[in-house]
Amino acid sequence: MADRSVAHLLIGGGLASANCARWLRESGAEGQILLVGREPDPPYNRPPCSKGYLQGKETRADTYFRPDAWWEEQRIDLRTRTSVMKLDTAAREATLSNKEVVAYETALVATGANVRRLNVDGCELEGIHYLRALGNADAIRADAAGKRVVLIGGSYIGCEVAASLTSAHGSSCAIVMQEAVTLSRGFGETAGRFLQSRLEEHGVEVHGEDELERFEGADGRVTHVVTKRGLRLEADAVVIGAGVTPDVTLARGAGLALDEERGGVLCDSQLRTSAPGVWAAGDIASYESVVHGRRIRVEHWDVAFNQGKTVALNMVGREQPHDVVPYFFSDLADWASLEYVGPAARWDREVVRGSLDEGEFSIWYLDGGRLAGALSVGRSEDLDHARRLLAAATDLGERAGALADLSSDLAEL
Ligand SMILES: Cc1cc2nc3c(=O)[nH]c(=O)nc-3n(C[C@H](O)[C@H](O)[C@H](O)COP(=O)(O)OP(=O)(O)OC[C@H]3O[C@@H](n4cnc5c(N)ncnc54)[C@H](O)[C@@H]3O)c2cc1C
Repeated sequence: MADRSVAHLLIGGGLASANCARWLRESGAEGQILLVGREPDPPYNRPPCSKGYLQGKETRADTYFRPDAWWEEQRIDLRTRTSVMKLDTAAREATLSNKEVVAYETALVATGANVRRLNVDGCELEGIHYLRALGNADAIRADAAGKRVVLIGGSYIGCEVAASLTSAHGSSCAIVMQEAVTLSRGFGETAGRFLQSRLEEHGVEVHGEDELERFEGADGRVTHVVTKRGLRLEADAVVIGAGVTPDVTLARGAGLALDEERGGVLCDSQLRTSAPGVWAAGDIASYESVVHGRRIRVEHWDVAFNQGKTVALNMVGREQPHDVVPYFFSDLADWASLEYVGPAARWDREVVRGSLDEGEFSIWYLDGGRLAGALSVGRSEDLDHARRLLAAATDLGERAGALADLSSDLAEL
């Protein structure tokens, strides 16, 4: 017998759940909403954890999705420091970590992702950090400000943290990564080289085509990072940004169908899972994208935000496919900002529009004449055209060359 019944149970205290709660109310849902999250903070934006918050320019409250009073005003029961331990989709009941059993009519599973941990010799030493939550950012700031820091990983976490620590805290940073060029895995070598040069101009050392071998320490604290190619870098602190894995612990236990290839929970185009009345959103949702004509799973802030809204609309019966083109942004302090729409699974050609030297350009990733993704540094308006071309799956053929010509009107493509 359930201890209480709610209309909407939102599992996970991140952005996807928070925006779902908001849109349930905005679309007229009157029933009880219970949002359960295991972190101590109310739902907040994670991007500042490697940017403004890490730099000390934004407060904890600045990162919050809404001020504390909003939850009560909206009659949303927000439970922090609480986990959903079990989800019984046949009985439509969830068991919380405080043993309470909650019956629901509809549920959202938005349990997000966990950092990928590297188990090498010395990984238990003090001073080695991962970054996912506000508390991690606090610990990094306390440990790394003004110190010698090694970042493991050349993707956006490693690059952003290096930029933030160098610019705001005077740390001296070195990046060790497998790829030859920073950020090139997602955005190719042209964009990657541009962004890496911004880091290097500001004194960040970059060691590409290398890998973490082990950590060395003294008195229980890390002192050096040793790489497979034999570098031995001094380190007062280390931050590892080696990717994330979707947290499907609860979903697996509940018997939801999972995507073994991409990770995450299998959803249809409306973000419905295999269980009736249960949706998924955000980092864990592997969904049939009507925009791409294929299944995708994306770990972007904007995607979690928009999928939360789509789920809310579907919980109130709209039957709406999730049709927003995924958008990503990243800032390297105030040295460079990139925006991106896609995601491109592959591409065979990159066309640059604008000037790399002047730091104002867009890169168009083409897969056999079709646009697969586009990146902008200082040319956000180009991405509006890119979104349109991605959604229409237009084959640009010969016309792709016009993308490079600044006098060509993108609206005509
Ligand atoms: C440092 C950092 C910087 C980032 N910067 C950018 C950026 O610049 N641009 C961008 O597009 N994206 C960025 N991202 C990614 C973006 O923040 C994520 O894609 C987004 O937060 C995903 O939201 P979510 O709601 O799916 O999951 P999450 O934010 O991970 O939230 C899920 C929550 O659910 C909780 N939870 C898990 N299991 C349970 C359970 N059983 N019961 C209760 N609670 C549970 C988790 O503890 C977590 O609090 C960044 C991420 C990080 C970590």
